[in-house]
Amino acid sequence: MKFTQPPLPYAPDAISRAISPVTLDFHYGKHEKAYIDNLNKLIEGTKYEDMPLERIIVESDGPLFNNASQAWNHIFYFFQFSPNGLKMPGGALMERIEKDFGSYEDFQKKFEEAGASLFGSGWVWLANDKDGKLEIIKMSNAGNPLTNNMNPILVFDVWEHAYYLDYQNRRAEYLHKLWDIIDWSVIESRYPF
Ligand code: MN
Repeated sequence: MKFTQPPLPYAPDAISRAISPVTLDFHYGKHEKAYIDNLNKLIEGTKYEDMPLERIIVESDGPLFNNASQAWNHIFYFFQFSPNGLKMPGGALMERIEKDFGSYEDFQKKFEEAGASLFGSGWVWLANDKDGKLEIIKMSNAGNPLTNNMNPILVFDVWEHAYYLDYQNRRAEYLHKLWDIIDWSVIESRYPF
């Protein structure tokens, strides 16, 4: 199976209050495309060729893991944004956020702090365990909570390529601005409780 890059569900300038069209063009159009191209080259003629991407992530390591996970992570990241999405979580997810983090505002603060304090390149995730308990997880490089048997529901990319063109060294400002374009209806749909 050859993996393809899905077109984004919004216009290039639609989320510019947090991510500019130039960053979008480089980040999704060039970085993400390269991960998918590399992934397709690495699986060709191997036992991974017909595997679902999630299984490749769990079963591989080295360059294949790096490219498979980066391919998945970026689609997950870009598809959680919308110019006019749901502004706050609700229902079972909001109840769980309040139970595990105190309040929605406390959760946002802890999530931003996790992203700001991650050393080097990586991702900050919100993921749930089999009982629905939520956890903020910092992972370096191409890390993905699927490898910890957790279900990812939200992610902020903290590689410099995600924000440097728009924010230079101001990573904390980039992280804070991302809430403006998160569509909580997408995050809720990823939370199976
Ligand atoms: Mn990235």
